[in-house]
Amino acid sequence: MMKTDLVVVIGLGGMGSAALASLARRGARVMGLDARRLPHDQGSSHGGSRVARTAYYEHPEYVPLARASFDGWDRLEQETGHRCLHRSGVLLAGSAESAILRASLESARAHDVPTRWLDPDGLRATFPAFRFEPGFHALLEPDAGFVVPETAIEAHLAVARRHGASIRTEVEVQAVEGDDDGVEIRLNNETITASRVVVTAGSWTSRLLPDLAAAASLRPQRKIMVWCRPRDRFRDACSDRRMPAWLIDDDGRFGPGVYYGVPTSPHQVGPGGMKFGFHGPGLDVDPREFDRRPPPEVVSRFAREVATYLPGVFEPPHAAKACLYTMSGDEHFVIDRIPDRQAIVVAAGLSGHGFKFAPAIGDLLASLALDRARPEGTGFFSLDRFKFPSGS
Ligand SMILES: Cc1cc2nc3c(=O)[nH]c(=O)nc-3n(C[C@H](O)[C@H](O)[C@H](O)COP(=O)(O)OP(=O)(O)OC[C@H]3O[C@@H](n4cnc5c(N)ncnc54)[C@H](O)[C@@H]3O)c2cc1C
Repeated sequence: MMKTDLVVVIGLGGMGSAALASLARRGARVMGLDARRLPHDQGSSHGGSRVARTAYYEHPEYVPLARASFDGWDRLEQETGHRCLHRSGVLLAGSAESAILRASLESARAHDVPTRWLDPDGLRATFPAFRFEPGFHALLEPDAGFVVPETAIEAHLAVARRHGASIRTEVEVQAVEGDDDGVEIRLNNETITASRVVVTAGSWTSRLLPDLAAAASLRPQRKIMVWCRPRDRFRDACSDRRMPAWLIDDDGRFGPGVYYGVPTSPHQVGPGGMKFGFHGPGLDVDPREFDRRPPPEVVSRFAREVATYLPGVFEPPHAAKACLYTMSGDEHFVIDRIPDRQAIVVAAGLSGHGFKFAPAIGDLLASLALDRARPEGTGFFSLDRFKFPSGS
């Protein structure tokens, strides 16, 4: 393979744009490739908002990554003048038995994340638009909020360009072949030789790295997002000045998962209004061909079920959109070098909760591409937990 110092990033959605910016900041010679014009609404990084919290119920190992990301969002704002993280606060509500509420509280305690515990009376008094079961408590994380993915991608790409990255869009990578020392990236009529490649192809990862996808059981799933406008008298109560982003653990009342929502905000990109969705099992799909039209019965069911928590608060849905999760076998991230081809670095299987971490994942990918040692405290995201075909 020809000797080169070029690092290529394949896929410039939430993770790839952050990796490109991080590599470029570190002075690497980098090129970013994406099959589409950016930002777009065909992958996982659209829809105007993503909930961003650090008191992490999924596992306490995520808390340092979330903290580093919040610093990263602030740094990005200083670099570009674009605010991506809006600190509306995040409210997590659930019954006294809620495992999610308990795990969030444990993460907050273990890592000294500032939070406020609300008992049922406090919850009612602080957020009167919501109606919960009598025993519901809540954890409020005031410094958390939501990130605007489209703004974040554009800001990361702007930083990357400023530091000399070249960006090529509407270029689809057909294959990636490599070993520990270098890679060849095949396009339709061209082959690019690079010293390292970062694969951040989201739901399309299995096409480029089928063995990784099989080992980590990557599964793209269709998810639906719904937007509703608040009725006039609830406009203020539903704005990001008064309402935090929220998640509700209702002990499986509406299926295994949690409803989440983002308040109205002048900063959200998209159809406007309050946005909500269900974080739980989705429909397995092939990202190359699936019906992107949100089924009307799913949209009306979401609106009906969310209305049990916010009765009379919003108008019928005026917009809905499909988006893609890529689930991993254990719903935790895979961020690593490929064991038998160390020149290939990947972030995959972000399992519907990755966006808030984009700046820190970008930095971690840059380290995996440029440094010898894996950064301390990031082993949780390694491929070691899966049986990779090479036996690593
Ligand atoms: C409905 C929904 C709600 C979510 N809510 C939250 C939330 O509240 N909080 C949170 O933190 N996360 C949330 N997530 C998850 C988060 O948005 C994703 O984890 C994140 O966007 C994944 O980014 P990505 O860069 O991996 O994928 P993508 O953004 O999809 O980027 C992949 C890119 O690779 C490109 N590509 C693919 N194949 C090729 C190829 N062969 N050649 C060139 N380019 C290629 C694609 O065009 C695309 O641009 C949510 C996701 C969805 C769908």
